[in-house]
Amino acid sequence: MSSSATPRSGIEPGIDTLDIPTADIDADRLLGRIEAFARIGRDAGGGITREGFSGADLDARALLMREARAASLVPSVDAAGNILIRRAQAGPAPVDRKVLLIGSHLDTVVNAGRLDGAYGVLAALEVLQVLAESGTDLPHEPVAIAFANEEGALFPQPFWGSMALAGRLAELPADPCDHSGQPLRGPLARAGGDLDALKTAVWPTESVAAYLELHIEQGPVLERAGTRIGVVDAITGRTVLTVDVTGASGHAGTTPMDHRRDAMAAAARMVSAVERVAKDDALCRVATVGRLEAHPNSPNTIAGSARLTVDLRDTDPGRLEHVEAAVREALRTIAGQTGTQVEFVAATRSSPVATAPALRAAIARSAEELGLAHQTLPSGAGHDAQMVADIAPIGMIFVPSIGGVSHVPEEDTSPADLLSGARVLLRTALRV
Ligand SMILES: [Zn+2]
Repeated sequence: MSSSATPRSGIEPGIDTLDIPTADIDADRLLGRIEAFARIGRDAGGGITREGFSGADLDARALLMREARAASLVPSVDAAGNILIRRAQAGPAPVDRKVLLIGSHLDTVVNAGRLDGAYGVLAALEVLQVLAESGTDLPHEPVAIAFANEEGALFPQPFWGSMALAGRLAELPADPCDHSGQPLRGPLARAGGDLDALKTAVWPTESVAAYLELHIEQGPVLERAGTRIGVVDAITGRTVLTVDVTGASGHAGTTPMDHRRDAMAAAARMVSAVERVAKDDALCRVATVGRLEAHPNSPNTIAGSARLTVDLRDTDPGRLEHVEAAVREALRTIAGQTGTQVEFVAATRSSPVATAPALRAAIARSAEELGLAHQTLPSGAGHDAQMVADIAPIGMIFVPSIGGVSHVPEEDTSPADLLSGARVLLRTALRV
């Protein structure tokens, strides 16, 4: 790759051509590691089940530490269970040297694909190894990180590790347990963490110069456009409402239609109303009812009550607020028309998070130098980066997902795109 390409028009001033001699990533090594990690937690369904702090996750973590040591890098585990990989220090580290943090997560959901998370961690390891082997020094200390329990599939606290690092300890459960009631304390200790020392996992705001995360897109945008690199401008905000609909149960054969207060029928209209706010009214980017439970859920009984969840996402906080109000009003109206009552029993909101313009420009410039078409797009999924954004500027690089699918065994990205993403990550790291 050329390091002397002339800047093209449209490039932000200040984003110069790289004049540092750059070593390239080792393609076989990176793809080989991705394959090796894809064998950890392989389930009967052909996917990967490597829930955070499960046995498979501990195996993957151990392999990452071995790979780092074999590369003459220095791995360590913080109290939250995050794995940090640094270059060996020849002398004492300069006190005021900030960190360039690069990473993602190793844990997966149930029956997942091999790339969500692991790709970003292994690319970060590759970048660190290339920098070390080529003796390249950066203004900031590059540190690779595998965040613990990003998915929250077993212990239901997603972003566990990145929230701890960002200092959001008050939002974490004091004594987390998995879905079967088993406490996290033991598995966390086996992973090298310490629930009683979580405070020590918090990083000061001024300590991180930038955080970079390379990830598969998990959607169809790049593939449809034929673009190789996605420059993420924002990670979507999300509002999740839990809604209870109360009607009256009754005999499905004897209750006349004009005497019914059917919670299921009301809920069905609510599902359609939620779809409409995004699809027809374009009040937010996407809106989903992913869960609907009816009671008593019997084929010959009118449902007396129903519970549904409403998931609203957008990168604009104002639009999120507006669509939530619109959904609440629409559901109340439907309740009024169907003789049911609607109650909003819970609401969780996460704000949209913007990436840093300078990092966006650095990613775009790096893609251009490599001759890779790029485009700006939002992330519809959550990522550790949105937590790290509390304490540092963040940048995110996406590569295309074949068929736009993720969280399924079919999740895939072409080897060429995997390598391109890692090369963009390396060049961006050199620029920061
Ligand atoms: Zn992920």
